[in-house]
Amino acid sequence: MTIELEQLPYEMDALEPYISATTMEFHYGKHHRTYVENLNKLIKGTEFENMPLEKIIQATQGKPEYTAIFNNAAQAWNHSFFWHSMSPNGGGQPKGELLKKIERDFGSYEQFRADFKNAALGQFGSGWAWLVEEDGKLKVMKTANAATPIAEKLKPLIAIDVWEHAYYLDYQNRRGDFIEAFLDHLVKWK
Ligand code: MN
Repeated sequence: MTIELEQLPYEMDALEPYISATTMEFHYGKHHRTYVENLNKLIKGTEFENMPLEKIIQATQGKPEYTAIFNNAAQAWNHSFFWHSMSPNGGGQPKGELLKKIERDFGSYEQFRADFKNAALGQFGSGWAWLVEEDGKLKVMKTANAATPIAEKLKPLIAIDVWEHAYYLDYQNRRGDFIEAFLDHLVKWK
């Protein structure tokens, strides 16, 4: 069994002008593809070869001898989740139950937006910011490099990739502008 690079849920240029087709061609077409290809090479002939991606992540988390497998597996999963956290018609606050939960756990949507932006801006170096559910309560968190909340069995709702490759072609050093574009124009609430 090999882990497949899944299709993007939209066209390469669908998120323009907020994320360019050029960024998507590199980010999905090169970075994400390479994580999947490296993972398949690393797990070939190992105990991980026939595991689903989530199981590989949970089985290799925190084990120094499997760091390369963990990093590539977690990045493969994180990127798929990130693509599904966005939509060409996205952005703004969610509706219904999810909005009520955000207001319950953050006080207001504006407070959630500020907390999420701070987490994504405050991730020093490469990593991710997330809205996750833990024991029924929503919280914002950030993770470094490939680290992923699913390794901790938390349930992510949305993620933003804040590695420089996610925004540098479109925003250069202006990570904050990229985060605001994600929240206000791209985020896809489920
Ligand atoms: Mn990335």
